[in-house]
Amino acid sequence: MPMYDFKCKKCGKEFLLARTLKQQESGSPFCPSCKSKSVDKVFTGFMAKTSRKS
Ligand SMILES: [Zn+2]
Repeated sequence: MPMYDFKCKKCGKEFLLARTLKQQESGSPFCPSCKSKSVDKVFTGFMAKTSRKS
């Protein structure tokens, strides 16, 4: 699942969310601290859940 790093433009709070593409399309996240929707999204990559064993 893609992890997104967000940073609030209002209070500067940084928070990490795992969101699907559908969630991304359905609405923007809001800051858990001040509930502002003025957040910057920073894509951080995918969760390394590789349980491959050879
Ligand atoms: Zn905030």
